[in-house]
Amino acid sequence: MIPRTDSALHDHSWQWHLQHSIKNANDLAEALGIHLDEVQTDFPLLVPLPYLNRIAKGDPMDPLLLQVLPRKAENDPSIGFSKDPLMELQHTQGPGIIHKYRGRLLIVTTGVCAVNCRYCFRRHFPYSEFQLSKKDWASVKAYIDQDPSIHEVILSGGDPLIMPDNRLGELAEAIESLTQITNLRIHTRLPVVIPQRVNEELLTWVRQTKLHLVFVIHANHAYELDTHVEAAINHLRSANVTILNQSVLLKNVNDDVGTLTELSWRLSQLGVMPYYLHLLDKVAGAAHYDVPDEIGAGLVRQMRGQLPGYLVPKLVREIPGADAKCEIKL
Ligand code: SF4
Repeated sequence: MIPRTDSALHDHSWQWHLQHSIKNANDLAEALGIHLDEVQTDFPLLVPLPYLNRIAKGDPMDPLLLQVLPRKAENDPSIGFSKDPLMELQHTQGPGIIHKYRGRLLIVTTGVCAVNCRYCFRRHFPYSEFQLSKKDWASVKAYIDQDPSIHEVILSGGDPLIMPDNRLGELAEAIESLTQITNLRIHTRLPVVIPQRVNEELLTWVRQTKLHLVFVIHANHAYELDTHVEAAINHLRSANVTILNQSVLLKNVNDDVGTLTELSWRLSQLGVMPYYLHLLDKVAGAAHYDVPDEIGAGLVRQMRGQLPGYLVPKLVREIPGADAKCEIKL
């Protein structure tokens, strides 16, 4: 039985929500009152109930639904789309370590997420061979020690906030003990899709760390940012966390100026800076989300005419081998 009301959902822990997520098209169709085809794919359907609760019932084109719904087009071959579009496997430096850019080091902490976004550039990533385990910390430390230019550690995944808070607290302490590291950045979609994740246990280690803590959340549409997400963000801001948002430009989800402008205003209300609008990474299975670069650039130009400059995200593409994200200005 799926609890439908907001308040019923809100009372459960984040761990409960992880266990009770929707995992197949039949349950999703039943919950939304629409017909959905079952699609065979190696990237399973996964939708947590707080996110499901924000999808309009009876609307197969709902922009939140389109982000999580497996479609037959995922299995179509598409020229230029590949399993490792950012060639990340060429930048691995041992278990869990990806070093792409000077000054910051990325650690893949887990392969698990609270939601499976169909456009995810790591949807084929071989996490089982690669993610960081506790015993690998010594090699991370040794890697950082030999490169004094590194001042920031980025926890990525999967979703790093899937890890229990005692483990995250230990990791934050270990990172803090490396005197050259000043910043800890966490890329996470959990405060958006299961806002109950921002609980007292998480806030305890967040308040304790002396590192400058930056959370980069991920929302693509203003409808994702309900009052429970707002409360979670407020808790993080009260604990002195800097919060940025990154979005992906997705066909039929947010590829119009009104939707993008509304997203920026909503983020502003929450005290979150719209940071990046990513052009789609060309990952196999996601071609049906692709928006051409010139259309993306045109949308951002129009946003500049409607928003204060600080609410216009940078339009970026990640180009394998480049020394930073590339800003697209056509
Ligand atoms: S939460 Fe992030 S890492 Fe996980 S599937 Fe979505 S985009 Fe990918």
